[in-house]
Amino acid sequence: MRIILDAGHGGISPFNNEYVTAGKRSPVREDGTQFYEGVNNRILVDRIYDALKANGFDVVKLVDTWKDAPLSERVAKANQLHKEKKSYLISIHSDAFGNGLEWTSPKGVTVFTSKGETKSDYLAKWFRQELACNFDGITTDRGIKEANFYILRNTACPAVLLELGFHTNKQELTLMETEVWREAVVKSIVDACSIIELQY
Ligand SMILES: [Zn+2]
Repeated sequence: MRIILDAGHGGISPFNNEYVTAGKRSPVREDGTQFYEGVNNRILVDRIYDALKANGFDVVKLVDTWKDAPLSERVAKANQLHKEKKSYLISIHSDAFGNGLEWTSPKGVTVFTSKGETKSDYLAKWFRQELACNFDGITTDRGIKEANFYILRNTACPAVLLELGFHTNKQELTLMETEVWREAVVKSIVDACSIIELQY
């Protein structure tokens, strides 16, 4: 099977050096900087992509640009890829809570699937298992949750959306930018993909 990696939101414009997506960022840190979710999603997707490639998986990046590709465009591209070869999609995100201006306490990693019994439930089970295991002692396992997300609802292939930590939690955000955290993300995904490859 082919694995499609989706980095949520946009990156930094090479023209003006600014983050192109509204919201989707942390509160302002003491040093005046902010964490940009779309930038971090790209860092993670690049690392996951390299690790999956090194392990022999057929993997593609859905978005390989700083631009914030519209969801309809992302879905159309994923559906085309799935038509060419049986695929599943992993959408990479980080979570937020509160008004975006103040730090809040929710933390942890969550696996999202579409509502009801779906073709993606088997994927969610393995991603949850590996995230829970690799993030044990690092952050909270928030389990599998169902949501009506456009990218999950409209893709023809099985799809999960991973919320990898809360960038609105000050302590968690510090962890999210460490090697330990990023390695735990990569390992969880490579391990889950390895199980899925063997089982289905
Ligand atoms: Zn997001």
